[in-house]
Amino acid sequence: MYDVIVIGGGPAGLAAAYSLHEEGIDNILILERDDKLGGILNQCIHNGFGLHTFNEELTGPEYAYRFIEKVNEAKIPYKLNSMVIDINNDHQVTYVSKEDGLQTIEAKAIILAMGCRERPRGALNIPGSRPAGIYSAGTAQRLMNIEGYDVGKEVVILGSGDIGLIMARRMTLEGAKVKAVAEIMPYSGGLKRNIVQCLNDYDIPLYLSHTVVDIRGKKRLEGVTIAEVGPDRKPIPGTEIDYDCDTLLLSVGLLPENELSKAANIELSRITNGPVVNDDLQTSVDGIFACGNVLHVHDLVDYVSSEAALAGKKAAAYIKNKTAHQSYLNVTPKNGVRYTVPQKIDVANMTDTVTLRFRVDNVYKKRFIKVYGDGKELSKQMKLILAPGEMENVVLKKEQLQGISELVVCTEEA
Ligand SMILES: Cc1cc2nc3c(=O)[nH]c(=O)nc-3n(C[C@H](O)[C@H](O)[C@H](O)COP(=O)(O)OP(=O)(O)OC[C@H]3O[C@@H](n4cnc5c(N)ncnc54)[C@H](O)[C@@H]3O)c2cc1C
Repeated sequence: MYDVIVIGGGPAGLAAAYSLHEEGIDNILILERDDKLGGILNQCIHNGFGLHTFNEELTGPEYAYRFIEKVNEAKIPYKLNSMVIDINNDHQVTYVSKEDGLQTIEAKAIILAMGCRERPRGALNIPGSRPAGIYSAGTAQRLMNIEGYDVGKEVVILGSGDIGLIMARRMTLEGAKVKAVAEIMPYSGGLKRNIVQCLNDYDIPLYLSHTVVDIRGKKRLEGVTIAEVGPDRKPIPGTEIDYDCDTLLLSVGLLPENELSKAANIELSRITNGPVVNDDLQTSVDGIFACGNVLHVHDLVDYVSSEAALAGKKAAAYIKNKTAHQSYLNVTPKNGVRYTVPQKIDVANMTDTVTLRFRVDNVYKKRFIKVYGDGKELSKQMKLILAPGEMENVVLKKEQLQGISELVVCTEEA
């Protein structure tokens, strides 16, 4: 019986495991399906990681290495090439690997850190043929940066999420011509800095309120047509633009990887697609915690690491001294705030402060982020710009929350 099993050896799993070690919990095991630790960061060879955590601009592998080194120095055990295929609410974890075969192991607590996956073409209903040359942006990134393949020469990108923006620059640097990025929404889903550094700096046009309406080619992609969409997101006839291209990259959203959570009957949020958690980052199943992109899709890995460290700390506290959660204060997102994580707070048992992370549902200029407790204003922050691509947070103190029965996080016009 382990104290804690951590599922996933990406930045979330590594930070959670190291935090458990710092709390004196060493009977732990990280299970990672890939052949190395580090998660998605291994394929992110661009810089821009770690500004908050290390005050430096690191590449993805460099950032991951800092945590892998800590895990190795602390002698935290891990198994690679080990795919977890089932968990249940009795804390049993079934994994399969070439070395161990099929194994079921048990732990006092589990930390979910499985990351997320990309939304595939099938989820988009794009008309047209099905030739080769259509990739999700992350797959193209892996093929180029890890496997060493040349993915294509003439490229159109659908979706302006961060991976698509980063791949627009990456493919340009490798000699490809990126002809256009089409985004169905009237705003980009990516970070502002990525639009400037990956598109504007290379004169790559971004067409907002546009989508792909046709795909041509039999064996290999020969071209795509994009068109403007109206407020109903339906294509407007007569606005079509044709591009000859051999590659279409899809960067149309990430989905937290929660098949295992479903198997354990963990309650999931319809908005984040990740588990509903309390301020300990504990899911609806006692002793199962979640952090990183499996919980909600993050913009910066620094926030993944700090959130995962908290999950490790709370899982350690759970093992040492099980807290019975009696009642919760639910957090209600309103007026522009799509969701919050955590979704509920055990005020009686919380630490001095709680950080609520969230995203907004649209682009807003000059707006307040406000928190109300039973109708009384508890906090107010002025924001010059709010965008769905960037995560926001508010920190609340225990003394502000005591005795409150309704907590609302919202945006308001300034
Ligand atoms: C293209 C791209 C560009 C980015 N650019 C930046 C940037 O510039 N700056 C920045 O701060 N952040 C950036 N990020 C975000 C950052 O990389 C992520 O926030 C971070 O990697 C999420 O960490 P994670 O551990 O939650 O997930 P992941 O890194 O995805 O790790 C999850 C791990 O779990 C493993 N796993 C999943 N299921 C199982 C299973 N069943 N059994 C065993 N193991 C399993 C996976 O193999 C993986 O190793 C970028 C992300 C991408 C994709």
